[in-house]
Amino acid sequence: MTAKVLIVEDEAALAEMLRYNLEAEGYAVRHTARGDDAEMMVAEEHPDLVLLDWMLPEVSGIEICRRIRSRPDSRNVPILMLTARGEEGDRIRGLSTGADDYVVKPFSLPELMARIRAILRRAAPDRIADVLAMGDISLDRAAHRVTRGAREVRLGPTEFRLLEFLMESPGRVLSRAQLLDGVWGRDAYVDERTVDVHIGRLRKALIRGKEHDPVRTVRGSGYMLDMEPVN
Ligand code: CA
Repeated sequence: MTAKVLIVEDEAALAEMLRYNLEAEGYAVRHTARGDDAEMMVAEEHPDLVLLDWMLPEVSGIEICRRIRSRPDSRNVPILMLTARGEEGDRIRGLSTGADDYVVKPFSLPELMARIRAILRRAAPDRIADVLAMGDISLDRAAHRVTRGAREVRLGPTEFRLLEFLMESPGRVLSRAQLLDGVWGRDAYVDERTVDVHIGRLRKALIRGKEHDPVRTVRGSGYMLDMEPVN
């Protein structure tokens, strides 16, 4: 089953970027730039998640959040607020009004995607793919199991989460900062060298003998998963 995401955002370019990336991850996406439309769309279309901009013309995101929460037919829909930097007080107000989480603009896309998945995993676990596959590597989220070909790959919890995060962004280079945000969380006090250490452990676990190294180091940028051998 496909998870449905409703984007409520009046910046057209941002909305389009979000739509593109959410559709690329397999979500069914609807979009409106207007808060009052959003209220109707939530009630009628029952999205699995609402991505709600804080600053909307006419009716604010926070008011929309309050209205969505006050209706019996939309009371439980997960809401992720998009707020601008420096709205600390607003953010707290947002959470107390019933938003499930928030990200601060400008946000990193992998972090936003990770937060969306985290919310959906709690709220609609049957709509998130349990098994990620890439080349001969397969990662089963429910069973917490990784295989390469027929072989089971034993990973510690951090390496597991690192591999999961990389597999969720196929073909994309992730910076050390993005990996830190997505795997360790943005409040963790971990320096970027820690990422390299855990990437090293992940590689060691994934590669046996002459097997292709799927973790590509992109000099000056970060890491990506790539199943095509480089020659
Ligand atoms: Ca806005």
